[in-house]
Amino acid sequence: MKILITGGAGYVGSACLRYVAEQGHEVMAYDNLMMGHRQAVDGHQLVVGDIADTDLLTRTLKEFGADAVMHFAAATYVGESVVNPELHYRNNIVGSLSLLNAMRGADVSRLLFSSTCATYGMTAADTMSETTPLDPFSPYARTKLAVEWMIRDFAQAYDMGFTLLRYFNAAGADPDGRHGEDHEPESHLIPLVLQVPLGQRDQISIFGTDYDTADGTCIRDYVHTRDLAAAHLLAIEATRPGTDETFNIGTGNGQSVMDIVAACEAVTGQSIARALQARRPGDPPRLVADATKLKTQLGWVPEYTDIKDIVATAWAWHRAHPQGYRNKNTPG
Ligand code: UDP
Repeated sequence: MKILITGGAGYVGSACLRYVAEQGHEVMAYDNLMMGHRQAVDGHQLVVGDIADTDLLTRTLKEFGADAVMHFAAATYVGESVVNPELHYRNNIVGSLSLLNAMRGADVSRLLFSSTCATYGMTAADTMSETTPLDPFSPYARTKLAVEWMIRDFAQAYDMGFTLLRYFNAAGADPDGRHGEDHEPESHLIPLVLQVPLGQRDQISIFGTDYDTADGTCIRDYVHTRDLAAAHLLAIEATRPGTDETFNIGTGNGQSVMDIVAACEAVTGQSIARALQARRPGDPPRLVADATKLKTQLGWVPEYTDIKDIVATAWAWHRAHPQGYRNKNTPG
C-alpha cells in the first residue's frame, strides 16, 4: 500500500511512518515542519507543506498514487487549546476539511484519523470503551470530535472508508534509541519529568492534587508509540470504502501523575523533586482505555504493558539526545 501520512514528521506520526515502512508499505510524510522534525522521517519521502494547502495536498496525493491516508497533523496541546482555541479550530477542523477535499480531488478513499480519548466525558466506570458517552472537556478535544463527525459525513456522501483511532497517552521512544519525543515547547508529563534527572529542570510541577483519585492526581493510560503504530497498521489494512470504525488504543492500565514520577525515579535511579500546583484547565481526572474491541476485532496485542518499560525507552532517548533532534530540520 502507498500511505500518505500527514504530520508524518511529528512524534506519533513519524513513529507510525517508520513502523509501517518497516512492515513493507511505501510511505510519504506530509508535514509543515512547524512541530515536526525532518530527521524523524528517517530518510523516507517528505513533502513540506501545510494541510490547509488543498492544491499541494491534492497534487501530492495524485503524484504519489496514494491508496490511503493516515491523518496526524493537528494542534494537540490541551492547555494551549484553552487559551488559543482559534489555533485548534483552524488547524484541526479547517485543516481536516482541506485534507478531505484533497482526498476527494485525488480519488483517495481510505482514511485513518488520530482522534483522542479526550473526546470522552466523565464516567463512573474504571475504563472507557468506544460506547462511553462523549463529552469533550477542552477545545482541543471538541475539535477532534467535530472532525470525527466531519469524516463520517464525508464518507457517507462520497463513498470513503475510515477508521477513527482514539488514543490514550502516547509515550516512549523507538527501542533502537534513534527516535523519540521532541516538542517545542514540551508540555507532556514523561519528558518533563525526565528533564529533572537530566539536569534541565529543578522540579516537576504536579498539576492538581485534589482530584477524586487515590493520590489526588490525574490518571492516564500511557501507551507506547510502537504499540500505537502496530494498531495503525492493523487498522489501515482493515479499512475499505464503506468502513466506519472506531477503536480505542490504550493498555487499560491507569497511572497517576505521582505513579509516573515514581516510575521515572525507578528507571533513572534518581529522586525527582515535585512542586504541587493548581489544576491545569481542561484536564479530565481519569482517562483509561478499554481496548477490548481493538484486541478482539483486529488482534492487537500491546508489547509494552509495564510503565517502567515505556519510561525506560524514553529515558534512553532523552539521555542520548538531551536536546532532542538537535540540528532541527536538517538532514541527519
Ligand atoms: N502534568 C503535570 N505536570 C506537567 C505536565 C503534565 O502534572 O508538567 C499532568 C497533566 O495535568 C495530566 C497528565 O500529567 O494530568 C498528562 O498530561 P500530558 O500533557 O502529558 O498529556 P494529556 O493527558 O494532557 O494529553
